[in-house]
Amino acid sequence: MQKRDPESFMREEYEKLVAADLDWKLRTLEGPTGPRAVVDGKRSIVLCSNNYLNLSNHPKVKEAGRRAMDTHGAGSGSVRPIAGNMDLHEELERRIARFKHRQAALYYMSGFAGNAGLIPTLAGEGDALFTDELNHGSIIDGVRLTKATRFIYKHNDVADLERALKEADPKFKKLLIISDGVFSMDGDIAPVGDIANLAEEWGAMVYIDDAHGEGVLGEGGRGVASHFHVEEKIHVELGTFSKALGVVGGYVAGSNDLRNYALNKSRTWLLSGTPTPSTTASCIAAIDVLETEPQHVQKLWENTRFFKKELVSLGFDIGRSETPITPIMCGDPTTAKKLSQRVFELGVFALPIVYPMVAKDKARIRTIMNAGLTKDDLNEALAAFEKAGNEVGLLK
Ligand SMILES: *Cc1c(COP(=O)(O)O)cnc(C)c1O
Repeated sequence: MQKRDPESFMREEYEKLVAADLDWKLRTLEGPTGPRAVVDGKRSIVLCSNNYLNLSNHPKVKEAGRRAMDTHGAGSGSVRPIAGNMDLHEELERRIARFKHRQAALYYMSGFAGNAGLIPTLAGEGDALFTDELNHGSIIDGVRLTKATRFIYKHNDVADLERALKEADPKFKKLLIISDGVFSMDGDIAPVGDIANLAEEWGAMVYIDDAHGEGVLGEGGRGVASHFHVEEKIHVELGTFSKALGVVGGYVAGSNDLRNYALNKSRTWLLSGTPTPSTTASCIAAIDVLETEPQHVQKLWENTRFFKKELVSLGFDIGRSETPITPIMCGDPTTAKKLSQRVFELGVFALPIVYPMVAKDKARIRTIMNAGLTKDDLNEALAAFEKAGNEVGLLK
């Protein structure tokens, strides 16, 4: 009998991806990310980072991190329930709660860890869970870890959600509705106000993942719940520091009950180390900046409106975006890849999004605006898209 080769499946799978041109080809940044960065040795305008407000380069955010390294060391030495709970973590959680206008917050290693660790504790056997068909992968993984019965409702379709609630009730004990606040592939916003009102009618819990809403939507960048003025009706707001806040780490914000529960139940929090003192202090400083310097969010939106308007007048289809995420629809994957490659040669870093991340005929380049880009940068990027768009036959 032939001996097994325990690793061969990885090579075979990888070769299949390469043959289909579906493997990730990583580009490398030398030096900091920012509105402009050196990507694969080339100085480029960056239109695919989540660093919306360029806070990763803000002097206060960097200085806070440097200082905490000196005062608190490089790591916390433990998970938080044992010996790793530092004053910095507690301070950050108070600051998150204040910023989000909530009673309390709990800081996780990442937003992904928040979803994967908390969702399975909120609904179990005998409960029903309602999830938007386009929810983020970290929600999907969290949902897969529950024994709850799942109802997948049509994207942003409140009538379909209501249909599912009717179908489920009264067979289940708890009802839990989960949605992204902003959907990162199309840049559209969930009808969080309608979802919250519907949930109230049915006594359902509402869980909103606001990874792309914070620092972008709502008063002072407080996020999608603030945007719809329904903060008190959202039971769990999950957020991240890895996007507009420019650092890394996740959190959930809500009631004191939520924090007490999550802290005692969620295994990705109980059994995983803590973000470093440096990271934690930078997160505090990022909230400080959001609370004291409204110009970053304003500039983000100014840039966004200009860029969208100009793309449309050039003749591009920008889909259904309502946020600083603006897709440039290409149709087939080959066009999207060619367009991305060509604009990269022209000095613009913007990645194609293709199947399986989106439907086969919905390939696009996804651009994400940055508050640090100037009018000249945007005009340069638009000229590159115009030139490349003509070359690949997308503009007629
Ligand atoms: C990016 C993202 C996450 C993951 O956040 P991290 O803190 O980077 O792990 C979760 N949910 C959504 C909707 C996201 O876009």
